[in-house]
Amino acid sequence: MHRIFFIVLCVWVGLSGSLAQTIPPPPQFDPDVLALIDKAKAQMDKGDYEGANITFRQALATKKVLPASMSYFFAKTLFIIHQNQNAKNFVEKYLQLAGRSGDYYEDALALKKMIDDEFEKIKNCEYCNLSGYRYVLCDNCNGLGVTVEECYNCHGNGMVMCPKCIGKGVLIHHDQLGDPIYEPCDLCDTKGYIVCPVCHGKKELSGRCSVCLGTGKKVSDIICNHQPEQ
Ligand SMILES: [Zn+2]
Ligand SMILES: [Zn+2]
Ligand SMILES: [Zn+2]
Ligand SMILES: [Zn+2]
Repeated sequence: MHRIFFIVLCVWVGLSGSLAQTIPPPPQFDPDVLALIDKAKAQMDKGDYEGANITFRQALATKKVLPASMSYFFAKTLFIIHQNQNAKNFVEKYLQLAGRSGDYYEDALALKKMIDDEFEKIKNCEYCNLSGYRYVLCDNCNGLGVTVEECYNCHGNGMVMCPKCIGKGVLIHHDQLGDPIYEPCDLCDTKGYIVCPVCHGKKELSGRCSVCLGTGKKVSDIICNHQPEQ
């Protein structure tokens, strides 16, 4: 009985203790983490956004508590290096964490609008994929979507050896005494070869391009400007 009361008391004290802490104390950030964030911001100031991306990721990898403002700066970096979806996630994270009172609330709203505008442009653009990378002509099929290859069966000859007479043009039987009887091959009309049954004499086979799967285009690593080619 005492034991149960003790447990209930502990739970109650624990709950009321956490309820009392409605305003959490200001988080103590790890100095190494803060140093990484300062480094990343300096890289941003110099225009080295690829470098800043790496440094921000190092800060994330520490798994330590990070200041909310980092989400804003990281989002800005990600947007500039065209990682739009990641940028959107981080700017939304910032707005959610910092709220209206955040130091970068207006900036974050403006950034979010730029990201959303870019997504809208991508969605309406026929020249790029959903990540904003420009399509180029598939060089395997020259944009045709189909490739023409030498027929595998006749190796591009259009003709194959007659399978009935094995290329001889005649069929050889033997009479009861064992003497050979020659009969013209009816399948190849004595020629010894027939039109290739796979390509029907065309020597080539066409099929859907295996690189672009028939679309005639492939994604490049060029960031799309959503304008037709000049
Ligand atoms: Zn034949
Ligand atoms: Zn063939
Ligand atoms: Zn192709
Ligand atoms: Zn585009």
